[in-house]
Amino acid sequence: MQTRVTEMLGIKHPVVQGGMQWVGLAGLASAVSNAGGLGIITGLTQPTPEDLVKEIALCREMTDKPFAVNLTILPTIKPVPYEEYAQAIVDSGIKIVETAGRNPEPFLPLFKGAGITVIHKCTSIRHSLKAERIGCDMVSVDGFECAGHPGEDDVTNMILLPLAARRLKIPFLASGGLGDGRGLAAALAMGADGMNMGTRFMVTKEAPIHEKVKQKMVEASELDTSLIYRTLRNTARVFKNDVAEQVLEIEAKPGETKFEDIQALVAGVKGRELFESGDLDNGIWSAGMVVGLIDDIPSCEELIIRIVEEAEAIINQRLGDMASA
Ligand code: NAD
Repeated sequence: MQTRVTEMLGIKHPVVQGGMQWVGLAGLASAVSNAGGLGIITGLTQPTPEDLVKEIALCREMTDKPFAVNLTILPTIKPVPYEEYAQAIVDSGIKIVETAGRNPEPFLPLFKGAGITVIHKCTSIRHSLKAERIGCDMVSVDGFECAGHPGEDDVTNMILLPLAARRLKIPFLASGGLGDGRGLAAALAMGADGMNMGTRFMVTKEAPIHEKVKQKMVEASELDTSLIYRTLRNTARVFKNDVAEQVLEIEAKPGETKFEDIQALVAGVKGRELFESGDLDNGIWSAGMVVGLIDDIPSCEELIIRIVEEAEAIINQRLGDMASA
């Protein structure tokens, strides 16, 4: 399949692995890139900018294909030296960056000056249009189905993607709720030039998380996610476990919720421990509604080939036959 996304990013298949805290390491990113998609190293998973430089170098040893780095700008428990991370990305010679969270404008002169293609992840049309206006090269349109932070508008991809197709000039990826060839064919039909998957790539052989977490996601249905931090206007979709339920109970109490009331439960470091130990109630982890569509643990290559072949068959046969009948 050739699309504006495959051309702009220099990849074989229009499939991108989204930035994921604690999951986007060199092993997964290189596996996705070697399979013809775009792998992404998650910048803030590395404790310091120097560690990020090392992880990028490691990824280069594992693939000669393009890969990207994600820089997420959202509230954090510890202040993040974003400028230093951005500089480390530039100094490492990275050519594609995925930004997410707040407005990436302050970083654009640095990135564009280094010839970097910037993909900004947006959960609304107004943010997508703004990203286009300030000079981003591509947006990743993230519907309400997505894992992590869906924003506060709660608009699903059935609406967001056709709107993006009508209004944007730059290419866009569909993100959120996507995990199979039907999703890819639908995303392309709705005007996207490719798709971004996070949760689906968590449940692959190369994802650096405990087998118990992967197995739990295989067993899960589309009802097994929770929306936490709604009261803080920093909503996040996470896997529904005991800790997510406890957070929701605290948020449901009368009066204002303070982040301090839930901080110990949601700290990212607890989620990292959970991925390492397989203790499913040690903390929270991001997961999208697409868990309901996941029922195996393939390699990244098996997954991407299956998705592309399924999408091609739908487009050429099912839709082709319908249109020419
Ligand atoms: P962390 O340990 O600093 O914080 C844990 C969670 O609490 C995060 O979701 C964070 O956004 C939230 N949070 C922190 N301070 C807050 C405050 N004052 N008010 C409201 N919410 C607050 O974060 P981490 O797990 O180490 O992750 C690092 C960064 O990556 C965070 O910005 C996080 O949001 C982001 N992240 C993004 C996604 C995504 O879907 N894009 C997924 C996981 C993490």
